[in-house]
Amino acid sequence: MKIPKSVKHYCPKCKKHTLQNIIQNKAGKKRGSTTKGARRHERRGGIHGYGGFPRPQPEKSPRHRKKTTKRVDMRLECPSCKKKSTVVNTFRIKKFEIVKTGV
Ligand SMILES: [Zn+2]
Repeated sequence: MKIPKSVKHYCPKCKKHTLQNIIQNKAGKKRGSTTKGARRHERRGGIHGYGGFPRPQPEKSPRHRKKTTKRVDMRLECPSCKKKSTVVNTFRIKKFEIVKTGV
């Protein structure tokens, strides 16, 4: 899906509508698994015993299939005050593209 590079949007800091740039927010680095459950899961090497939390992968059935699209984390940046704001109404799309609009 193609998305324009800049959109007119309300900036809460400037208290007016400004032409803001759309940026795709990239997920930060994952820190090592530090929770107790994650450490135990690693030590046991997967699944042991009956049921419990770390369940085996579900069978290939339509009920358990994974989603093929992802919700894009879009941010808006105001050029005058450099404040970033999140876009609340994002949608599930396969392909994400920021396109320059001829102004
Ligand atoms: Zn602003």
